[in-house]
Amino acid sequence: MADCIFCKIIAGEIPSSKVYEDDKVLAFLDISQVTPGHTLVVPKEHFRNLLEMDADSSSQLFARVPDIARKVMKATGALGMNIINNNEEVAGQTVFHTHVHLAPRYSGDDDLQLTFTAHEPDFPALVQLAEKIAQA
Ligand code: AMP
Ligand code: ZN
Repeated sequence: MADCIFCKIIAGEIPSSKVYEDDKVLAFLDISQVTPGHTLVVPKEHFRNLLEMDADSSSQLFARVPDIARKVMKATGALGMNIINNNEEVAGQTVFHTHVHLAPRYSGDDDLQLTFTAHEPDFPALVQLAEKIAQA
């Protein structure tokens, strides 16, 4: 797609530090390196984000993630990894071509901060919301 930076990387029009490539996906180092080894896995076909993908295209993408993640773990000696996918601006998406972040973790005190603020469970509300989602 014209004007998509990741399509340009896939086409070889702009450089990247590739770590894996096959006919369906490309993985390359994120230019910002939130932690050392921070890698992006992208489908070669352009999709705005995961919410636009179907079962086949998303399966092809995610089927490659564990192997690539293990390669990154092995090469970096990381102790763990966050695997993150942002969808739409409100969720932090800045590049609108589906990508999965592999962020190796070395300590809980590095430059990646993820916080899930816990709330008291409201069980009737959970039941109602689950029903709504199931019916959607
Ligand atoms: P997101 O905020 O989830 O959309 O992530 C987009 C990521 O793409 C950011 O972490 C950027 O650092 C990364 N990025 C942007 N341009 C490039 C590039 N030319 N090469 C590698 N990574 C890039
Ligand atoms: Zn694209």
